[in-house]
Amino acid sequence: MHTIRIGLLGCGNVGAALVRQIDAQREEIAQRSGIELQVVAVAVRNLALERDVPLPAEIFTHDADEVVARADVDVVVEVMGGIEPARRLILAALHAKKPVITANKELLANVGAELFAAADASGVDLLFEASVAGGIPLMRPLRESLLGEPIRRVLGIVNGTTNFILTKMSESDATFAEALAEAQSLGFAERDPTADVEGFDAAAKASIIASIAFGASVIAGDVYREGIASLQSSDISSARALGYVIKLLAIAEDVDGELAVRVHPTLVAGTHPLATVNDSFNAVFVEGDRVGSLMFYGRGAGGDPTASAVLGDLLDASSNVVAGAKGASVGTLTQRKVQPIDDVASQFLVRLTSVDEPGVLATIAAIFGSHGVSIKSMQQHGNDGAIAELVFITHIAKEADFRATIHDLKALPSVKAIGSVLRVLGDDR
Ligand code: NAP
Repeated sequence: MHTIRIGLLGCGNVGAALVRQIDAQREEIAQRSGIELQVVAVAVRNLALERDVPLPAEIFTHDADEVVARADVDVVVEVMGGIEPARRLILAALHAKKPVITANKELLANVGAELFAAADASGVDLLFEASVAGGIPLMRPLRESLLGEPIRRVLGIVNGTTNFILTKMSESDATFAEALAEAQSLGFAERDPTADVEGFDAAAKASIIASIAFGASVIAGDVYREGIASLQSSDISSARALGYVIKLLAIAEDVDGELAVRVHPTLVAGTHPLATVNDSFNAVFVEGDRVGSLMFYGRGAGGDPTASAVLGDLLDASSNVVAGAKGASVGTLTQRKVQPIDDVASQFLVRLTSVDEPGVLATIAAIFGSHGVSIKSMQQHGNDGAIAELVFITHIAKEADFRATIHDLKALPSVKAIGSVLRVLGDDR
């Protein structure tokens, strides 16, 4: 039996759940891995706070640097969040040849390359399964099981708060504000929901997914981002009438050697498996040349699911400490061009109202054509004799060309208003 001593940085939702899981699983872990996990020091901000964890008060401290530096700490678990001091503490641990487990997406999405390089230089593990999609195993499959697979695209629902809000808007015709208030009352959304509803959280995860799937350095600032705060109930109901649901998707794809990485509300056909991922659940599709499509589904957040992923990493790193080895490395992240959104190609839906007169459709179609945007389908709704509502879905087109089309359509005297404009998860590739 080997004892691995843990220095824990943070004892909030995830840290406290981890401590309880280590305690509850102690015998099974020892029996299956021959390892006894022992938390020997915990750094927190507020020493006076009551914590529901089976640990003696004297191992709690304000001094996170001391936790990392202690000679009796074998492995460091960082679940405090934020960039500093987490970055400095993780680098100190790695330089001292102590493996690190982190759940910190914000940190990895900004300075991941620096941390991966430091781990490789020291020959120790830096594991981060919990940083994307909480309890869903995704990082290890991408890093290890799919290492030899040419991955073309990874896309999915990686933010439970926005998925909960969109599900409520879709199921009960709630407005965005009503659905957000419900998410807050149930604890699915923060009091300040900006990071979730404006897509910052999903963009951080998209950058980590892109970095790991494509072995390239992609930071949060490279990711084009639109949130869900401006979606109207009418967008949701009219999507439904056409057989679609709206999901906030994170999409990372390899486009002939360049990368296209973005987060935005997307129309997903009701028949697509992602359309049925509801409430706060997450799901990620990985598409490879040879393996085809894989789907990972489950709870993307919450103390227990996230701590479960941290515990898996912790046991992996602990086994490596016992063996005097290091697990699979992320490797050196290459520099690849990340396309500006103007160059990214998508399918689009546009809903507009126009006067209902001979020749109007031909004029509108000519504007699409003049920008090289090909129309895949057109439907006419709500024709009252004078005004027609037209819904166009395009074939795949560059964002800049589509925006130029919308600009020119707005200038047409026969077009009275442009309604929803949304990207579509279509079947064009
Ligand atoms: P949390 O509940 O806010 O806990 C953070 C903990 O870190 C608290 O115990 C806090 O101390 C401590 N802390 C913060 N700054 C510190 C500092 N400078 N020095 C010492 N201690 C410090 O956060 P969480 O929800 O557990 O999340 C932790 C990490 O996991 C974050 O990176 C988050 O993005 C990631 N994550 C969370 C989830 C989730 O569902 N919660 C899911 C996936 C990933 P006090 O308790 O004294 O304030």
